[in-house]
Amino acid sequence: MSLNPFFQHRVIQGKDIYVVDDHHKALAAWALVRRSLLSAPNLITIDHHTDIHEAFLGHAHWENYGGRAPDQEAFRLGLVAQIDWRRDESIVGAIEYLKHDEHIDAATCSDTIGNAFCIQLSDSGGTPSTHASAANRIYALPFECFIGCKVKPHNDDCLVQQSNEIIETRYLDDQLARGAEISRCIGLPHIEAAPYILDIDLDAFHTRKAISPHDPTTFYRLIRNAVAITIATEAECVKDEWLDGEDQMDTAELLNALLTHVEQAL
Ligand SMILES: [Zn+2]
Repeated sequence: MSLNPFFQHRVIQGKDIYVVDDHHKALAAWALVRRSLLSAPNLITIDHHTDIHEAFLGHAHWENYGGRAPDQEAFRLGLVAQIDWRRDESIVGAIEYLKHDEHIDAATCSDTIGNAFCIQLSDSGGTPSTHASAANRIYALPFECFIGCKVKPHNDDCLVQQSNEIIETRYLDDQLARGAEISRCIGLPHIEAAPYILDIDLDAFHTRKAISPHDPTTFYRLIRNAVAITIATEAECVKDEWLDGEDQMDTAELLNALLTHVEQAL
């Protein structure tokens, strides 16, 4: 079975764009990109969620519960060890058993992706910063609030304003600086220096304002320099996370707006 059914592939100005409905299907696109490179590309992902569960945790738990995998963790690690980005069948099999939020771990633990940096809105602490690399090479970037917020404690209005800034230059610059600091601490190349895939989950956009940045300079640079772009439409999550009841955007409209940014950036 080929990997093509998992995504819609478009090419904009020579850049490969892969659109998936469920985020874990992006693993198929990442494997294809991996095959075109000598070493694993990094991932810079923009997503509401951190998406950093261990690969196959849900499936292993289910098999353990059903008595088919007495040692749940050994069973899970066995599945991870079987992921081979070179082989379509292996990737197809992995996607079948991956549940929500497990795809990045599956990708880093199989060397499909090198290091992953998650720009996200659900965990302000992110991955605790240390001088050792994370075992699974996934770094959720921490955040304070929108840039310049003076309110303590931060509140629901803060969250709206912060999510409105998700692809504004000043917000992305702050996030990328945090990623660069993590890279520096553990001795990795600069977050934007190594080849990277830019991955965007549409549920990171909570309002029309969020997808219409005043200053898209940094976002456009991330688009231009990415080896490829993956986009997850995640219609249910977009609906769940949307914050403006007066002005709904569905995934089709959001996707169009995002692809327009890609065209303008390139
Ligand atoms: Zn605040």
